[in-house]
Amino acid sequence: MRVVHKYGGTSVGSLDRIRATAKLIQEDMARGNEVAVVVSAMSGETNRLIAMANEIDSKAPAREMDALVSTGEQVSAALLAIELNHLGVPAYSYSGSQAGFRTDSSHARARIKGVESEHLIRHMQAGEVPVVTGFQGSDEHGNITTLGRGGSDTSAVALAIAVNADVCNIYTDVNGIYTTDPRIVPQASKLQEISYEEMLEFASLGAKVLQTRSVELAMRFNIPIHLRSSFEGVAGTMVNGEDTGMERAEITGVAYNRDEAKVTIKGIPDQPGIAARIFGPVADADINVDVIVQNVSEHGLTDMTFTVPRNDYAATMALLEGLCTQMKAEKVTGDDTVAKVSIIGVGMRSHAGVARKMFDVLANENINIQMITTSEIKVTVVLEEKYVELAVHSLHSAFGLDAEEE
Ligand code: ASP
Ligand code: MG
Repeated sequence: MRVVHKYGGTSVGSLDRIRATAKLIQEDMARGNEVAVVVSAMSGETNRLIAMANEIDSKAPAREMDALVSTGEQVSAALLAIELNHLGVPAYSYSGSQAGFRTDSSHARARIKGVESEHLIRHMQAGEVPVVTGFQGSDEHGNITTLGRGGSDTSAVALAIAVNADVCNIYTDVNGIYTTDPRIVPQASKLQEISYEEMLEFASLGAKVLQTRSVELAMRFNIPIHLRSSFEGVAGTMVNGEDTGMERAEITGVAYNRDEAKVTIKGIPDQPGIAARIFGPVADADINVDVIVQNVSEHGLTDMTFTVPRNDYAATMALLEGLCTQMKAEKVTGDDTVAKVSIIGVGMRSHAGVARKMFDVLANENINIQMITTSEIKVTVVLEEKYVELAVHSLHSAFGLDAEEE
């Protein structure tokens, strides 16, 4: 098999961790696999570099910021290559640019255009390990670019596509994706597999295990991602296509996000273009709007309610108060103690009544639902934050996800 391994910051966070990581690579080579490796910076390093630059100038040129933060990965790639050679495994470190990662010129959020990987494939075929810095590449003028925070996951998937790997193993400090947060529900269990689409829904709800872009990329090229721990030698969760022939349960998991706030504009004249006039300025302020509900209008007036990240609550309220006067709306109200709870699963496509069951469960617990939104594989409700744990518990158990006691 041809395999890409990706190691996050904690897996290369110290020399001891680098030694342990090199052993994992050596073991995989001993199984006869061809291996290429992508590494993150040692944990905390990227933040440390950014903080140093900020002390000089919080508006440092983006090009220089990329030159700076890309060095974190170079240190871990070189140290890991040194340790591999020390173990007798021939290894060569490469910067993203040397490895052939070509990107556009948008510093700090560059997009990968292609990976010129022939030399890396030759190494792999010769039993040698290329160790590539994650999160970076270079543009057409040779400037160093970076892909955005958490971008090494995306580098790893892009490399897996370029070298035509069978799987991309992403080693991290969690051992997989769970049916829900085990800190809330101890009966949560590790999923053996999950579809790309489900993973994207989990990721957008704050399960920050994989960079969203990496999952989108893997889905487009159908590269399986094995998300696993570098601390435990057990299988993690396979993120892959969903046509495994297995029957799917009604739902795969329950996710939540406390980082939510809700705002309502009341009594706004109901005319064509009001949504655009509200959400235009909100988007221009870089505020991510999520769940949106517009009420049926009465006497030509309507209400509009939507959620934003809690961090943006104050800014959103300030912005809307201005808009409210301009648009002759009655008033703006808000609440920054709401949360989102979602049930997620491709099984919803073939099971009827899943949403209704969710509403029944919440009603039985006397939990008031404030807003509802659905997609083909997800039902999300907005509720008071204090009900998150109760909601997650009861949904997890009502949908039969609680693991049997051992
Ligand atoms: N080192 C970079 C970061 O901290 C990239 C990564 O770890 O994926 O965001
Ligand atoms: Mg990461």
